[in-house]
Amino acid sequence: MQKRDFYEVLGVSRNASQEEIKKAYRKFAVKYHPDKNPNDPEAEKKFKECAEAYEVLRDPDKRQRYDRFGHEGMRSSDFGGFRDVEDIFSAFGDIFGGSFGGTIFEEVFSGGRGRSGRSRSYTGTAGSDLKIRLKLTLEEIARGTKKKLKINKYVSCSTCSGSGASSSDGYRRCEYCSGSGEIRQVSRSVFGQFVNITPCANCGGSGKILSSPCKACDGEGREQKEATVEISVPAGVLEGQYLTLRNQGNAGRRGGPAGDLLVVIEEEHHEKFIRRGDDIVFDLLVSYPTAVMGGDVEVPTLNGRARMKIDPGTPSGRILRMRGKGIQHLNGGGRGDQLVRINVWVPKKVSAKEKELIRELDKQQNIHPKESDQSANKSFFEKIKDVFN
Ligand SMILES: [Zn+2]
Ligand SMILES: [Zn+2]
Repeated sequence: MQKRDFYEVLGVSRNASQEEIKKAYRKFAVKYHPDKNPNDPEAEKKFKECAEAYEVLRDPDKRQRYDRFGHEGMRSSDFGGFRDVEDIFSAFGDIFGGSFGGTIFEEVFSGGRGRSGRSRSYTGTAGSDLKIRLKLTLEEIARGTKKKLKINKYVSCSTCSGSGASSSDGYRRCEYCSGSGEIRQVSRSVFGQFVNITPCANCGGSGKILSSPCKACDGEGREQKEATVEISVPAGVLEGQYLTLRNQGNAGRRGGPAGDLLVVIEEEHHEKFIRRGDDIVFDLLVSYPTAVMGGDVEVPTLNGRARMKIDPGTPSGRILRMRGKGIQHLNGGGRGDQLVRINVWVPKKVSAKEKELIRELDKQQNIHPKESDQSANKSFFEKIKDVFN
């Protein structure tokens, strides 16, 4: 089964903060908790899925690896291997703040209590993620490569350095919230008195109002420009994987954090080689005499040409392995192999002289297959299975 994207599982964006991830996980853990969904295997599955996603995204190391390589980049040791619900609780119990019941109460009745005291260092909004496709040849994938790409994106305004204001005193204090960015409302209910805190609508929660906008960017704090990004692609990447370049997406509005740049890997079709995982398959044509008597042949590889020995009596369809001539593994050292499939070359046209020689050869008993040779042949599918095992 295809694994769901961890960010999708937790319903957070790719540049979500640790705090946001923790919050999202807590929300889902509460929703799918087995105590709330007794005998519901679907809820239990979701509960475990969230735990797995959280285990990776809460760890900066694992998260970085996941961002770059997706599920492919994860090792089995990255997951604690939760046996049951109790395991998950003992691992992440701290975020439930002790008892589970207390959490629900807080979620439902605190009215966004978590917002208070949160300070924002910027007045703007976050920039969006950008997604680009990057075509790579098998040669580039085999060794890894560095690419410089030109992309159109929002960058910080060079006139106002992203602030959006024409001068350092271009902002004034929001009169609505007195600069706090929050509106407090006191309400009463059967549970007692509550202070409900919401972000100020007048200033968008920043506490500041732009009174003198920068003329170059109209107060946006960013401008559209062609920018060059450098991408370092590790060896062994697969079609459809993506690399995440943090904060290389669109610049945020008025100094908000930039989005990410997602680089989706595309593998170019190769004229000569077929990729099978980290192995490379190549079809080699050899002459009939070489197949019968053996010889030394030249074979193209991803790393230039190499010599290979053909044993006497090598049949068409035999697959020879050139160790370490394939693609470098994505995780850890080592390389795949090049598999060379032997095909005996049959010329389309022959001269009168050649015909004469072939007829002469044809008279020899030994070059014709016998009944027993036919049955000794492995079936085509068995051969294929052998090679990829
Ligand atoms: Zn500006
Ligand atoms: Zn305000």
